[in-house]
Amino acid sequence: MAEAGSGSLTVVGLGPGEAHWLTPAAQAAIDAATDLIGYGPYLDRIPERDGQTKHASDNRVEIDRAGHALRLAAEGRNVAVVSGGDPGVFAMAAAVFEALEAGDPAWLSLPITVEPGITAMLASAARAGAPLGGDFCAISLSDNLKPWEVVTARLEAVLKADFVICLYNPISKARPWQLRAALELATRHREAQTPVIFARAVGRPDENLRILTLAEALEAAASADMATLVTIGASSTKLIPRPGEAAPWVYTPRSVTKSPSATSQGRT
Ligand code: SAH
Repeated sequence: MAEAGSGSLTVVGLGPGEAHWLTPAAQAAIDAATDLIGYGPYLDRIPERDGQTKHASDNRVEIDRAGHALRLAAEGRNVAVVSGGDPGVFAMAAAVFEALEAGDPAWLSLPITVEPGITAMLASAARAGAPLGGDFCAISLSDNLKPWEVVTARLEAVLKADFVICLYNPISKARPWQLRAALELATRHREAQTPVIFARAVGRPDENLRILTLAEALEAAASADMATLVTIGASSTKLIPRPGEAAPWVYTPRSVTKSPSATSQGRT
């Protein structure tokens, strides 16, 4: 059994894109690392420096990557595992703890830190106005790690409860139909005029924010991609029009006067 040396492991959130959306604590963890581990495109965001080794990997081998990181830390390296957005939101932090739980007991004495980052739903909400002003939730539409029936059961529950819903991993080449299916489900519980935000590549040069109605979003589902965060408004989510070409503000009031049964559940 390996003895844990003086190494450390930090799981770092890079934020959604722009360097100025990286926290100083996350930057300090990156600077202090001897080894950086992560999906290639995330590592590419970090400038090369002497004395620091990058270990790029594929996006679908999180557990191997986490085990590799823990092994390097146990050998005495100062390892930073990088994730886009926040590392705890559908990302590497959970993979690290999964590998820790199943791995060498000596890893339990390693100093492990999680440095938060701005997650996609917060970046997207900030651009749109304040859509998360009332109760909200986040669901990953990926059925790589859970059955699709679980996704639809959870969607149904939060649609009935009238939450604002943020959909991560809405669509990919391997999962082309799930977003449209989720939006179809939403039309059974929410008005066709309900605001839906398609926020793509927020904080990156190709950022694009579209404010649609639920009916329009259903037709536009195929235009979303892996870099898109979809937010479905609650029954109280509203638009404030702006003059000229500017997209309307989207906001959800903090106060709720109607019960869910008077809003979404009534629709069939
Ligand atoms: N840990 C990440 C999420 C990983 S899941 C975070 O906290 O943001 C990957 C999904 O996140 C993507 O499919 C997309 O839905 C969303 N996402 C990540 N970065 C984004 C960005 N810059 N703009 C919009 N959505 C983004």
